[in-house]
Amino acid sequence: MHFIFRFIRSLAADFTDLLFPVLCLGCNQSLGANEKVLCTHCRLTLPETNQHQGPYNFDLLNKFAGKVPIRFLASYVYFTKGGIVQKLIHNIKYKGQKEAAKEIATWYGHQLKLKSDLFNETDLIIGVPLHKSRFRQRGYNQADWIAEGLSEALDIPTRTDILKRTKFKESQTQKNRVERWENVKTVFSIQNHVDINGKNIVIVDDVLTTGATIEACSIELLRAGCKSVSVLTLAVAHR
Ligand SMILES: [Zn+2]
Repeated sequence: MHFIFRFIRSLAADFTDLLFPVLCLGCNQSLGANEKVLCTHCRLTLPETNQHQGPYNFDLLNKFAGKVPIRFLASYVYFTKGGIVQKLIHNIKYKGQKEAAKEIATWYGHQLKLKSDLFNETDLIIGVPLHKSRFRQRGYNQADWIAEGLSEALDIPTRTDILKRTKFKESQTQKNRVERWENVKTVFSIQNHVDINGKNIVIVDDVLTTGATIEACSIELLRAGCKSVSVLTLAVAHR
């Protein structure tokens, strides 16, 4: 009996190794038994924004002023070029580290749950969708995995069948703000109006940059009858 238990436990450990990287994504050192994604040292150096603890950062919300009413907006960590967060985001988007995205999102979710009552009235968490051809290429939508981690930690359901990105657009990295907005305009549609009617929704993405994508999603959700839209992202460009 004892042997069987040990066997199952070692199988479970092997399985966990498959899901989580065994090296720290920040410094490439081996992770300890209780460490996931980042070693303790790297995790402590994460440039957390603490935006959810206040005072409230209106500069962030001003990205959307006069365009779409956003109830609440917060990001977990600051993104700086060459820093640990850039490494994490790169791994999450381009190196298949979807489980890492979920794990980091649960860290954030636990903080949000402890320090903020903003989510008591939240009904649904939705990841910003990828177009299906991009999804096929990548094999997953990192925003859905972030939404999954937040959903678990905050105990709020998440859905992937509400918002759909309808047109594929080329990479936005070389475009300015106006071009980006033109680029994402009207590319989102709502699949399931009934399920969002009167609901408080949180939209989730990996990095908040110009806000154009979030803006386009929010407009569609509000137009479709949801009560409010809030935004959570893993990272945001430094102030
Ligand atoms: Zn490390």
